[in-house]
Amino acid sequence: MTRKFTKPFTQQEPLPEAAIERAVEIMRTGRLHRYNVVDGEEAEASVLEREFAAWQGSRYCLACSSGGAAIQIALRAAGVKPGDRVLANAYTLAPVPGAMFAVGAEPVLIEIDNDWHTDLGDLAAKAAASGARFLLLSHMRGHIADMDAITTLCERFGLTMIEDCAHTMGARWKGIRSGNHGRVACFSAQTYKHVNAGEGGLLSTDDAELAARAIVHSGSYMLYGRHGAAPDEEAFRRVRLDSANLSSRMDNLRAAILRPQLATIGDNIVRWNTRYQILEQGLRKASGLRVPERHQHEAYVGSSIQFQAEALSADVLPAFVAACGERGVEIKWFGDDEPRAFTSRYDSWRYLGDLPDLPRTRAVLSKTCDLRIPLTFSEDDCRDIAAIIGEVMAGFA
Ligand SMILES: *Cc1c(COP(=O)(O)O)cnc(C)c1O
Repeated sequence: MTRKFTKPFTQQEPLPEAAIERAVEIMRTGRLHRYNVVDGEEAEASVLEREFAAWQGSRYCLACSSGGAAIQIALRAAGVKPGDRVLANAYTLAPVPGAMFAVGAEPVLIEIDNDWHTDLGDLAAKAAASGARFLLLSHMRGHIADMDAITTLCERFGLTMIEDCAHTMGARWKGIRSGNHGRVACFSAQTYKHVNAGEGGLLSTDDAELAARAIVHSGSYMLYGRHGAAPDEEAFRRVRLDSANLSSRMDNLRAAILRPQLATIGDNIVRWNTRYQILEQGLRKASGLRVPERHQHEAYVGSSIQFQAEALSADVLPAFVAACGERGVEIKWFGDDEPRAFTSRYDSWRYLGDLPDLPRTRAVLSKTCDLRIPLTFSEDDCRDIAAIIGEVMAGFA
């Protein structure tokens, strides 16, 4: 009898009761806008900024409307102007090219290596050839490249690094939290990430002027004094009239939903990684699949898992994905010519203009399969999923 997996890959856990209670309390006040406070009150969004900065170990934090908005604001606040070249790894999610498009940047896309990291050789070559001054580094699906090498490259070429930590909230490289290697980092609080507010973004930095710009850009209506982890008045005086209001604020309701989740993220990382390691072991038993070793210095968050279907050619891969789907296992394939459901390849970002050919990235993505690991899956579920994939794979051998 063929086993079928029946749980949805898109179902997250309910919010903590404390989040629900606080959200209801805030709704009862009617003061949902972050600048709507009574005397002596600190807005929930402001408290979240303070708590996130403390948790992340950064001096400043801005809560905003989405991860993509945080990236767009970070690029502007870091000084990217229309026409400026921005180096960026080509394997990422659509909000990243979207943010570069929104600021009028000229992306210089970098190849990835076999394990989905930014290719260091291509990065160095294109940094030298392009004269770009910015690197937008996306830790896509939580795979952290060699940050020592990247930091050295940034110093050598005078690059300002903007980190996209949508999949690395809580991850570390050599003990340092992901997001604390560059000038500014961006996080997402969208439902499928490590904290869930439906939508939401967080930006962290130690740079006072950048923080002031970011806060004014987010739409502060000159009420920047009501931010929880902001630089002093002097930093704002320098930038307040030169930074456009992009209306990308976070409201108090989402902040209320997020605050209790910061307290549980550490436990959740342990739960994600237990599930990841069960899947990893199970998938390694299947023939024709490769699950790369993670870098020894990387403390990752296994909220999803990727593998290379090495034994399958691009013309049979869709049938493999469909066969897994029939058994209830939802695999995303990054080799598809058509972008669909959160999956897109760089050559479908046509709005960016002329895109380079990146044969290595295409070759890697043509075999890349991706599974979400929601915490609603039990450890046994993960064993079942790996076994089903192994059985389906055996039928393709
Ligand atoms: C989710 C995500 C973002 C931000 O997405 P939003 O939906 O705008 O919050 C950015 N980069 C990557 C790699 C992501 O997966």
